[in-house]
Amino acid sequence: MFKKKLQKFDHKTLIKCLQAEDELQQELFQLARQIKEEVFGKKIWFRGIIEFSNICQNNCFYCGIRKGNKKLERFKVSKEEILDCLKFIDKANYGSVVYQSGELISEIFKKYLLEIVKTTHKKYPQLGITVSCGEQDFNFLKKLKQAGAIRYLLRIETSNPELYANLHPEKMSWEKRFGCLKSLQKLDYQVGTGVMVGLPGQTIEDLIRDLKFFVDNKFDMFGIGPYVIHKDTPLGKDAKIQNWWQENKEKNFNIFLNFLAILRILLPNVNIAAATACDVFDSSGRIKVLQVAGNVIMPSVTPKDCRDKYLLYQNKPNIDEGADKSFKCILNKIKKAGLEPVFGEQGNSPFYYKHN
Ligand code: SF4
Repeated sequence: MFKKKLQKFDHKTLIKCLQAEDELQQELFQLARQIKEEVFGKKIWFRGIIEFSNICQNNCFYCGIRKGNKKLERFKVSKEEILDCLKFIDKANYGSVVYQSGELISEIFKKYLLEIVKTTHKKYPQLGITVSCGEQDFNFLKKLKQAGAIRYLLRIETSNPELYANLHPEKMSWEKRFGCLKSLQKLDYQVGTGVMVGLPGQTIEDLIRDLKFFVDNKFDMFGIGPYVIHKDTPLGKDAKIQNWWQENKEKNFNIFLNFLAILRILLPNVNIAAATACDVFDSSGRIKVLQVAGNVIMPSVTPKDCRDKYLLYQNKPNIDEGADKSFKCILNKIKKAGLEPVFGEQGNSPFYYKHN
């Protein structure tokens, strides 16, 4: 059996499992599922995600809401609309809310974010609050924590600083991002990170390095997505990359699923979310993730008129539906798959309590 070999980071076994297809892939999925169910059963926790602003100061080469995308109409959800979103989350009995936006470090932005976190915590103290608003300074992260945020998600995107440099403008630094993740751990957040699988220029060795990075740095939760191209980005405008992506997207999605299965085998009690981007490849993409490795789903609660302006990648699914439809649709799929939706619970990472 390959469980022990994977846990020992046996290089050959990792390569074989990352590229697994057919029978070997089923064996890998079966093992990951069994390990996941030993910790979480068939339970799936809900987080309502509010993408409250698409304004970003950065220019990541892969992202549709990058500052340089002048075609995009920018928005910021008002406080009143956020209260409406929270009412929906409360009624649907989701245990948690996620506030996500582009990265801004202006005082106006920080004040706004702090206010919405404070209001949320005051009005709905039972809700687990996650923030995902890019790299922020230590003092501000401390204030957010004091205001009621308990989790922070900041994707490292790749553990390879060289690949990171190829995907980001010079002024963005892998080391700074890693430092921010360390600050979050120091502040006792439940810290989430993640990478994109299937990036141009990414190798199998990079993915092995990512897995090692996750294990070594004791992260509590993961938001990992398959790379999906966006036409209004430097990567998406490159004809060579476009062709490469079209030709390899199915193969890369397969590797992505294997990557998550291995992650679950290596880290049985972390939280793993099923990213919406999975549904670009397959309308049951998120469900496939939940059946193999994931235990968290984040249905969108973003106001309907903002959804088509928050496209980090192309062909994002469900952008024409409201929060109610997003909820019913995924709930139906979860039940059909024999999984067990959990309501009214925050669903915190057991790994966090173990290492704290
Ligand atoms: S990935 Fe994040 S930081 Fe980079 S451009 Fe997009 S929203 Fe901004």
